[in-house]
Amino acid sequence: PVVKILISACLLGQPVRYDGKANDVKVSHVSTLLQQWLDAGWVVPVCPEGLGGLPTPRPAAEIQQGDGAAVLQHQAEVITRSGEDVSAAFIAGAQRTLAIARQHNACAALLAARSPSCGSDGIYDGQFAGRLRNGMGVTAALLEQHGIRCFTPDKTDKLQQYLKSVITQINADS
Ligand code: SF4
Repeated sequence: PVVKILISACLLGQPVRYDGKANDVKVSHVSTLLQQWLDAGWVVPVCPEGLGGLPTPRPAAEIQQGDGAAVLQHQAEVITRSGEDVSAAFIAGAQRTLAIARQHNACAALLAARSPSCGSDGIYDGQFAGRLRNGMGVTAALLEQHGIRCFTPDKTDKLQQYLKSVITQINADS
């Protein structure tokens, strides 16, 4: 069966990061997996910050005093290094990413680590000092709230296990 997986565009070599670069996927088994999924037609590339209308390059931003779930509830804010509140663009990007996930019936997402949008296993703590706090970025939080499981590139083994269970279920239902 064909399954659809959202993938952070910056992990696919697209230069969409805040600094105008892509994320190097240095781990060879991750690049191999990505290539297999691309060949199989499973990949749906997304960049939530671009989808939210932010330009590239753009100022670095971090979530202050909370995580992505708190931003979605308007209890925390995404702030740039110069102090601009960009929460609305991050929330819009998360909602557009969820809409794309639903359109493709995506079951999972492989998203760049630590990003205030895409991070799903810890994010920067809002002080622009390279320190992490627990929690997810805005998009990862929204996707998880809607049953789309999010994984970081160092957890592709868990993602593969999850995909196996999804495929077993699809085969059982058909
Ligand atoms: Fe990559 Fe996500 Fe940042 Fe876009 S928003 S550049 S996909 S980490």
